[in-house]
Amino acid sequence: MNRRYRKTVIAGNWKMNKTPAEAKALINEIKETVGKVKWCDVIVCVPYVDIPAAVKACKGAKISVGAQNIHFEPKGAYTGEISADMLKELGVKYVIVGHSERRQYFAETDETVNKKVHTVLEAGMQPIVCVGESLQQREQGVTASVIETQVRIALNGVAKEQMRKIIIAYEPIWAIGTGKTATSEQAAEVCTGIREIIRSLYGARVARSVSIQYGGSMNAKNAAELLAQNDIDGGLIGGASLKAPDFAAIINAANQ
Ligand code: PEP
Repeated sequence: MNRRYRKTVIAGNWKMNKTPAEAKALINEIKETVGKVKWCDVIVCVPYVDIPAAVKACKGAKISVGAQNIHFEPKGAYTGEISADMLKELGVKYVIVGHSERRQYFAETDETVNKKVHTVLEAGMQPIVCVGESLQQREQGVTASVIETQVRIALNGVAKEQMRKIIIAYEPIWAIGTGKTATSEQAAEVCTGIREIIRSLYGARVARSVSIQYGGSMNAKNAAELLAQNDIDGGLIGGASLKAPDFAAIINAANQ
């Protein structure tokens, strides 16, 4: 974390978990468990149908609601899809774009990720752009080039002024939902590399202002060490965000 230049952002990715009633109960539990949130932004990225209940439950608390996906077209014959206007009208402030599960199971590509980034920005919301290498790519020694390609294509056409709305989440695929966390050195190395890419594209001032999260089995035990790294400005948290005490412990670690 480096609060002098950028925000610390803790975001829960609930994936396909919790009904609207369960969402309300979990948010209320998080509110009761967490201490005063002063130094970081807290987001819960809930399933689409939970959004109204989540927005209502978050009212008055320093917790924002995010979505887990979006369609890049504004409207039309895209059965089953959800547009930016629909999300915005419900009070959504953030949208996860390019999560590895969407890339893996729903054929998202760097190009669709880029289109979605533009859609989210144009609607006045903030994208949380996910990048990350597979285990095979790490073992082949191509992590840096894979991440560079993903970041460069995701940000293609994004203007300098729009960069203050971008959050990047470095999520090594082998660490997501596996209980295998990247070491703080591994995570920091890639996050520093991402900042370097942003610097080469937009200059030093923009680079130091962008929040870069780590995601991949972050939990109540390992959060403090990961967040202590200068270039890790928060976390995107799956499993542990579904348990109020664990999520609250991560928020409290970011709040130190
Ligand atoms: C995620 O879904 O983005 C994630 C990091 O999941 P987990 O924390 O469960 O590894």
